[in-house]
Amino acid sequence: MKIVVYSDIHANAEAFGKVIADLKDQSPDLIVSLGDVVGYGADPGRCLELVDEFSDIRIIGNHDLAASEEKGGERFNLTAALSIEWTRNTLDDRQKSMLKEYNPLQIYEDCLFTHASPSSPLDWEYVYTIGQAEMIFNEFSSRFIFVGHTHIPGVISFDEKDGAMVETGRSIDILPGKRYLINPGSVGQPRDGKSEASYTSLDLDDNRILMHRVAYDILLAQSRIRSKGLPESLASRLATAR
Ligand code: ZN
Repeated sequence: MKIVVYSDIHANAEAFGKVIADLKDQSPDLIVSLGDVVGYGADPGRCLELVDEFSDIRIIGNHDLAASEEKGGERFNLTAALSIEWTRNTLDDRQKSMLKEYNPLQIYEDCLFTHASPSSPLDWEYVYTIGQAEMIFNEFSSRFIFVGHTHIPGVISFDEKDGAMVETGRSIDILPGKRYLINPGSVGQPRDGKSEASYTSLDLDDNRILMHRVAYDILLAQSRIRSKGLPESLASRLATAR
């Protein structure tokens, strides 16, 4: 069983196209989108249609929810609010109803999927710390817990004896008795200083978690954002990945 998980595409069709090409090579049995398909980038409709075609489980993100509603989004900063407003005007009613069908949280066998903290999925709490991870491991029993939202890829393992600890590297062995909190990072707007699109695969035959990075045409994605009149910072930050 091989599961591919991606998150935070943020309407970046250039990055997502490369991720789709890359994940096809691995012939996954299940593909999961962890949310924020839209917002920030220039191609929300295209990304939405691709997620519909290339995912089996679709989780809702805060940008997806805001874009699907007529108004709201008071918790967004000015740049995000401008892009949500533009996204609302760009998507048609059918596409907005597709966003509304995304789930806040879904469990599949040993895996739990949600966009932000699973403790209260629609409050959009970022999961950054070991302490938060330990609370989540204590609250939920799934062996593999996937969250997105921070745009920073990472894995935290947990067992009763040692508690939670950060795992590093591109390939992480799944050890007996351990559980894992996994953030696949962001496809369309990474914020860990590396500009390549990020996603994760879970190989339950080989017992490995793999953290993937895929290069894409950043200049093209930036020029698409500028051509739509979206804020310049949304274009420039793709290169700095901050
Ligand atoms: Zn996001």
